Amino acid sequence: MSILETDIKYLKSVGEKRAKILNNELEIFNFRDLLYHFPYKYIDKTKFDKINEIDYKSKSVQIKGVISHFEIYENNFKKRFVAKLKDKTGKIELIWFKNFYWLENFLEIDKEFIVFGKPNIFRDKVNLVHPEIEKVNKEKKINTFLEPEYSTTEKMKKKFISSKIVQKLQKFVFIKSYEKIEENLPEHLIEKLNLMRRKKSLLHIHFPKNQDFLKAARFRLKFEELFFIQLEILFKKNIFLEKNVGYKFTKVGKYFNNFYKKNLPFELTNAQKKVTKEIRRDCFGHKQMNRLLQGDVGSGKTIVALMIILIALDNDFQACIVAPTEILAKQHFAKFQEMLKGLGINVDILTGSTKQKYRKFLHSNLKDGTLQILIGTHAIMEDIVEFQNLGIVIIDEQHRFGVAQRAKLWKKNFSPPHILVMTATPIPRTLAMTVYGDLDFSIIDEMPPNRKEIKTFHRYDNQRLRVFKFIHEEIKRGRQIYIVYPLITESEHFDYKDLEDGYESIVRAFPSPKYTVGVAHGKMKAEEKEKSMQLFVKGISQILIATTVIEVGVDVPNASVMIIESAERFGLSQLHQLRGRVGRGADQSYCILMTSFKLTNDAKKRLKIMTETNDGFKIAEEDLKVRGSGNLDGTEQSGLPFQLKISNLREDGEILERARKEAKIILETDKNLENQENEILLEYLKKEEKNKKTQWGKIS
Ligand code: ADP
Ligand code: MG
Repeated sequence: MSILETDIKYLKSVGEKRAKILNNELEIFNFRDLLYHFPYKYIDKTKFDKINEIDYKSKSVQIKGVISHFEIYENNFKKRFVAKLKDKTGKIELIWFKNFYWLENFLEIDKEFIVFGKPNIFRDKVNLVHPEIEKVNKEKKINTFLEPEYSTTEKMKKKFISSKIVQKLQKFVFIKSYEKIEENLPEHLIEKLNLMRRKKSLLHIHFPKNQDFLKAARFRLKFEELFFIQLEILFKKNIFLEKNVGYKFTKVGKYFNNFYKKNLPFELTNAQKKVTKEIRRDCFGHKQMNRLLQGDVGSGKTIVALMIILIALDNDFQACIVAPTEILAKQHFAKFQEMLKGLGINVDILTGSTKQKYRKFLHSNLKDGTLQILIGTHAIMEDIVEFQNLGIVIIDEQHRFGVAQRAKLWKKNFSPPHILVMTATPIPRTLAMTVYGDLDFSIIDEMPPNRKEIKTFHRYDNQRLRVFKFIHEEIKRGRQIYIVYPLITESEHFDYKDLEDGYESIVRAFPSPKYTVGVAHGKMKAEEKEKSMQLFVKGISQILIATTVIEVGVDVPNASVMIIESAERFGLSQLHQLRGRVGRGADQSYCILMTSFKLTNDAKKRLKIMTETNDGFKIAEEDLKVRGSGNLDGTEQSGLPFQLKISNLREDGEILERARKEAKIILETDKNLENQENEILLEYLKKEEKNKKTQWGKIS
């Protein structure tokens, strides 16, 4: 056992009680965990603020001065400790309201001290409340010029485990184990990238000697972190591929060729051709495909899916498409029927509302192979649905379709079918590489020709009448309008109230029988909602008032205006998804973002980005910037299968790319990590597997 695995309770000055707190609050169980609890910032201990130049708005100040006076004041039975610190430029008060009795012995008049804290203003005077304070010790020089700050929790503070204490513990760990910290990356990699050694980088991340050392240490540790994640993903992927030989689609036959010659309704874009080739290459090879096809809303992913399905059929395989909603499944079904006209292909649909009798009929057709393409919702994944020979599965608009769900599909056949996940949610590259690192990627980065940019405007609530006038004009020209209300949680009463009030005012402005206004939201019965949507799809209603139920996939080319109410309450990617519901026909389309005047700076930024660009990938990158990767929304966060301790997906894209590349290179020549020079990596992966299990045991 490595010394780094020593239980943290055995570290000098820790013991059972403190160990419990470190376990619970920071998940620090052993020496290694502590060493990998990195500072979140550093304070430059060589720079001091002058008292007369202190800006009370600054986040923190550091002052060196002498104590000129201190005393305990009492009023209304409340005590406070006040000390005066002075430098050459002035005087400042230091105030403590509790836990101050130790100061009486600690402070000495006319002796030099360093204080650090956040300035406060009280009765026009700047002071420091509960600052950190330390004696200037002439002999014992501060051993690091950059003072690390460690994150601590309330519970830790209550038990006096401050950042300073954590720093002290770090020191103890180093004293105990520095010489025994072993390298965990192979020599050849360290040499190639000129990395700082592990031992040294851990030391300098906690006790940086200077900026250069800190930079090198940081790079090394970020690289290490991202490299191991990539190595693990790619290593497991290899094992999976080895175990599961994919179906070979060896020929292109009559289905594909007939479709291409007779039914292809338009010329493919270059991007569509490119991704089709990438997908075909997978399916023609001997590997099982796991590919993510990204393409902005309206970029034409469906036709790509259709073509690859036809090739599966040409090789006597069946295919299925899983859509996230019934509406979308129906749309796909209608489109497929139309596009496959005259080709003699049997395609059908299975959703939650499929009648039992028909369902049985479908099941038997799937089993004997007469049904070639099945389109449906998750109902397809019910265990009872058995295919004769399922060759490929298309998952539409569900980038969150995780490994576990994919595994469910594999069970549908003796060997896993090829899987193509399609999504319009642009996933920033760095995120994709970590969360979906086991998938290959194809990107449609080009829109079909003749698409007009959707014009996006931001309007305030008091401009509503003008917006109504605009709606009137568009309807007069035969167009249809979406109006979307935010719904943060389905149960939030007032959200529905907004929608209902909105509905009333719209019906007043657009009265029946001249106008038909439909509503669709999650609280309605499925059939009612469905009916409402269908009225809109068929062009019978001119206006559809909805919550985000319409977010995904619905295709109504005649709809040209998307009005988003309380737009400030939506995230960027959601706004972009909603906007993508219009601009699908040849007409000029518009997106109007309605808000009140009260907007946070972040909301303003989001709205500005929306009015400036239609490019989903740009928006995704901006989104990551605005929110930061530590602040991904719930779904993305839960998609992260690990915790990043030092790297940051927003800033460390380059290091991540490098780490992935190096992991790939190593696995290319040594896919089982059997070479002596890579032994260390295999060991790491094995240990990691074991750690994960025990860690879970400890948490649960
Ligand atoms: P998404 O990628 O959002 O799923 P779709 O596949 O639904 O997009 O395509 C959007 C629209 O663009 C459809 O009406 C489709 O017929 C049309 N389309 C797709 N590819 C092309 C193309 N190469 N040229 C012209 N129109 C196309
Ligand atoms: Mg689609």
